[in-house]
Amino acid sequence: MKEQIIRKIFNGLIYIHILHHADEESFYGSWMIEELKGHGYSMSPGTLYPVLKTMVEEGLLEKEEKNVNGKIRKYYKSTKKGNELLLELKESLKVLVGEVM
Ligand SMILES: [Zn+2]
Repeated sequence: MKEQIIRKIFNGLIYIHILHHADEESFYGSWMIEELKGHGYSMSPGTLYPVLKTMVEEGLLEKEEKNVNGKIRKYYKSTKKGNELLLELKESLKVLVGEVM
């Protein structure tokens, strides 16, 4: 029960995390999985890719296919809409964190 609740909250925060990195530099899926691991959060490709796909559909991310040593790799980067949402989310988060911490 507790694990499920924590997972649900983290899944929401994933959006902010993805937007944050997409704003800095374009990334590919397995890079993001490793990044999340570094934060102690394991996410399978089967969970991450649908999130990325949704974010592309929502106009928050832009997908670009790059040829890396003969292999096609899908890169994701933030759109203007994604950047604006990130700024808004950061403001709300700052207020919330300021209150509860
Ligand atoms: Zn990170």
